[in-house]
Amino acid sequence: MTPLKLRLATITIIHLSLFLLVSSGEVFARADTPEQIAAGLRQKAMTDSGAMEIVTDLTTEIGPRLAGSAAEKRAAEWAKQRFEKIGFDKAWIEPFPLEHGWVRGIEKAEIMEPSPQPLVVTALGGSVPTPTNGIEAEIALFRTYDELLAAPIGSLKGKIAVVTPPMVRAQDGGGYAFASKIRGAGPSQAARRGAVAYLLRSLGTDGRRTPHTGATRYADDAPRIPAAALTAADAEQLERLVACGKPVRVKLLLTPRDLGAVTSQNVIGEIKGSEKPDEIVLLGAHLDSWDLGTGAIDDGAGVAIVMAAAKLIHDLPQRPKRTIRVVLFGSEEPGLLGGKAYLKAHTNELDHIIVVAEPDFGQGPIYRMQTGVTDSEEPSLLRIRAALAPLGVLPGNNESHGSSDVEPLAEAKVPAVGFDMDGSDYFDFHHTPDDTLDKIRPERINQSTAVYAVFAYLAAELGGDYRAPAPRLTK
Ligand SMILES: [Zn+2]
Repeated sequence: MTPLKLRLATITIIHLSLFLLVSSGEVFARADTPEQIAAGLRQKAMTDSGAMEIVTDLTTEIGPRLAGSAAEKRAAEWAKQRFEKIGFDKAWIEPFPLEHGWVRGIEKAEIMEPSPQPLVVTALGGSVPTPTNGIEAEIALFRTYDELLAAPIGSLKGKIAVVTPPMVRAQDGGGYAFASKIRGAGPSQAARRGAVAYLLRSLGTDGRRTPHTGATRYADDAPRIPAAALTAADAEQLERLVACGKPVRVKLLLTPRDLGAVTSQNVIGEIKGSEKPDEIVLLGAHLDSWDLGTGAIDDGAGVAIVMAAAKLIHDLPQRPKRTIRVVLFGSEEPGLLGGKAYLKAHTNELDHIIVVAEPDFGQGPIYRMQTGVTDSEEPSLLRIRAALAPLGVLPGNNESHGSSDVEPLAEAKVPAVGFDMDGSDYFDFHHTPDDTLDKIRPERINQSTAVYAVFAYLAAELGGDYRAPAPRLTK
């Protein structure tokens, strides 16, 4: 080939590849800097991240996905197939044993005296049943959890303990963190004081008459008593009746069942890195959900965000240097069981995990990036923050331990990033029959997916070491 012909051929190839890039709708070119590629990811994700389609399919084709259930297994198969369809290099399922499967049964409550009327309740996850005919007893009502704790041992003998503090609405979900012990530890605290059943005002911020479920955890040293959540309206009705001064009697019927030992599973998909395949950027979310809704905001949205973010990176013309691993955990709701099982199964590769992050707080938008790293001024982190700024993400503190299922990894000293999502309305729907697809807004989930895509891409491409003290720039 003559030099001229060679030049013409090269130009043709360049034209052809430009044509291919344009015709396939791609906004990326090979020579782009990581920042330019990140800008392309932002733009693509904000237009259509693909997350909406994933959360739609998951909540429609599978529906609710209770820990250890057949539906959770179907969801795992669905996710593995989705990984394969997207083009992940590897997708696999890691089963782990669950000591107790649990299913909801009938749940009914009514005020018997002084003014008979129905109450709307739902059993807490893991609750034991009432006797077949239910439990009828006088209630002992506490407007704060501390009042319950201040009640002497034995003082609630034969009573139904009712705890009714309202939950505070907050962007960062601080009200839930404050109140969650009322649900988790409350039943055993009431049982120690002699109570025969436990009711709490739902941990929620809505004004609808839909109760919020969620796991409770019985202590080994207290009797296991049936436990359920009341709606806010029903809790306030009981407060008013108690204030009238007459004894208030409530009847409660719950028929949940402990299924004994069952199996749950984590689903893992991987996009191998182009230069450092043994170094892993790990994105998590949980595949299980409560049974009342379809688990759209908790955590179908998270599943969609991490899967779609990884797909956006997969579709780039060139792969980032490190591996992107997406872990969809099983059985988060009963107490991070998938996260704990993952840690146990992968203890020998913790050094290979560069950083972890997990969305488990709805659909976003994300407004802040927290870190849990040795040095939050590490140079690649500064570049990541700069690339996230156009998405409205503020820098936060360096005290993050990730969230939910990746917390056990963070506790095992794996560097973590926590992206704070706007949770102002999250607890209007969380763990209720209203946790359904119609609550998901494309513009919100697209922004969150953009954040995760940019973060995962740059963490995989820039080679930052989040375990090491960062080298300082000297003047
Ligand atoms: Zn969740």
